[in-house]
Amino acid sequence: MKRGITIAGGGLAGLSLGIALRNRGVAVELHEAGSYPRHRVCGEFISGVRPAVLETLGIADLLAGAEVQRSTAWFSGGKQIFAAQLPVPARGISRHVLDDAMRMRFQESGGVLHERSRQQAQGREGLVWCAGRIPARGKWIGLKCHVREMPLHADLEMHLGRNGYAGVARVSPDTVNVCGLFRLDKTLEGAGVLPKYLRQGGLSELAGRMESSVVDPASFAAVAGFRLGWQRSRTEMMTLGDACGMTPPFTGNGMSMAFESAAIAVAPILRYATGVEEWGNTRKILQRQLLRKFSLRLVYAQAMHPFLTRSIGQAFLAAVTRSRLLPFHLCFHALR
Ligand SMILES: Cc1cc2nc3c(=O)[nH]c(=O)nc-3n(C[C@H](O)[C@H](O)[C@H](O)COP(=O)(O)OP(=O)(O)OC[C@H]3O[C@@H](n4cnc5c(N)ncnc54)[C@H](O)[C@@H]3O)c2cc1C
Repeated sequence: MKRGITIAGGGLAGLSLGIALRNRGVAVELHEAGSYPRHRVCGEFISGVRPAVLETLGIADLLAGAEVQRSTAWFSGGKQIFAAQLPVPARGISRHVLDDAMRMRFQESGGVLHERSRQQAQGREGLVWCAGRIPARGKWIGLKCHVREMPLHADLEMHLGRNGYAGVARVSPDTVNVCGLFRLDKTLEGAGVLPKYLRQGGLSELAGRMESSVVDPASFAAVAGFRLGWQRSRTEMMTLGDACGMTPPFTGNGMSMAFESAAIAVAPILRYATGVEEWGNTRKILQRQLLRKFSLRLVYAQAMHPFLTRSIGQAFLAAVTRSRLLPFHLCFHALR
C-alpha cells in the first residue's frame, strides 16, 4: 500500500474501521484519548446493523455471544402503554467487553494503538476523525449503570418520564444496563444520581427496582455537552460515527450507525491508500455517501424525539398506543 491512515478515536467507528483496513493491508495508527477496558454511556442495545456490515468490518464473531432481545415494553409515568415483539431481534453487549475485544482484534491484526493520546481536531490528509460527539452546549445528560439480578418486564423496557427517558436491557445473562437521557439538572449530583433523575421524572418504580438489585458502581458513566443530529459542520475533516451524526438514543441505532459509517468508508479509503484517489476527493465522496445513507434516518429520529421527551408528545404517544394505532413496525424500520 502506498499510503497509511491515522484514526482519532477508538470507539466503535474508529476500531471497526481500523480492523477492516488492517485486514486489507493498510497501515493504521489509532489514537484513543482514554484507555481500555472502560464503560461508556450507552444503552448497549444494538439494533439495525446488517450481518454483512459486520462481516465487511471483520467483527461479526465478536457479537456472536451477545444477548438476543426479542420483546419490548413501553411505560409512561410508570404505567405500561405498549408491548410488542421487536420486528427484528436486537443484541445486547457491554461496551466494556465489546470495545476491549475490538481493541484486541485491531492490535492482533497489526494496527498500532496509542492509548491516552488525545488528537487535535483538524482536517489533515490521512486523518479519519472518529472521536465521537463534537462537544457543544446542550440540554441533555446521558447516564448509565449496570445492575445485576434485576427482574425485567421485557427484553427491552423503555420508560418515558417528565425529564426524559430511560431504556433497560440485558447485556449479559446476569447483568442489565439501565441508561437514560435526561434534561440536565445541575442540582442533581453525587452517588445514586441515576435513580435521582429517574425519580425526578416520576419513574420511581424503575428507580426502586434498580436500587433493590445489585448496582455495579464501577460501571456508572455520564456524558453531557452534546447536540443530537448532524454534528457541527467540519467540512475539512473526514468524520465517522457520532462525530458525523448523532441519532437520539431511543432509536437504539447509534452503534449500528457507527459500524455502518465505518463500512461505507472502507472502499473510498482503500482507493486513497492504493494511490488511486486523492484525499480531498475521497473525503467528498465519502461525505456524499454518508449524507445519502443517514439523512432521512436522522430526520425521522429527530421528528419522533419530542414524542418521547415532551409531556404533550408523551400524552399523544400514550393515547395512540392505547388505541392500538401506533405504526410500530413503520417507525422501527424508518429509524434503521
Ligand atoms: C444516553 C445514551 C444512550 C445510548 N444508547 C444507545 C443504544 O442503546 N444503542 C445504540 O446503538 N446507541 C446508543 N447510543 C449511541 C452510541 O453510544 C453511539 O452512537 C456510539 O458509541 C458511537 O460510536 P463512535 O465510535 O462514533 O463514538 P464513541 O463510542 O463515543 O467513541 C469515540 C472515542 O473517541 C475518543 N476520543 C474523544 N476525543 C478524542 C480525541 N480528541 N482524540 C482521540 N480520541 C478521542 C473517546 O475517548 C472515545 O473512545 C447512546 C448514546 C447516549 C448518549
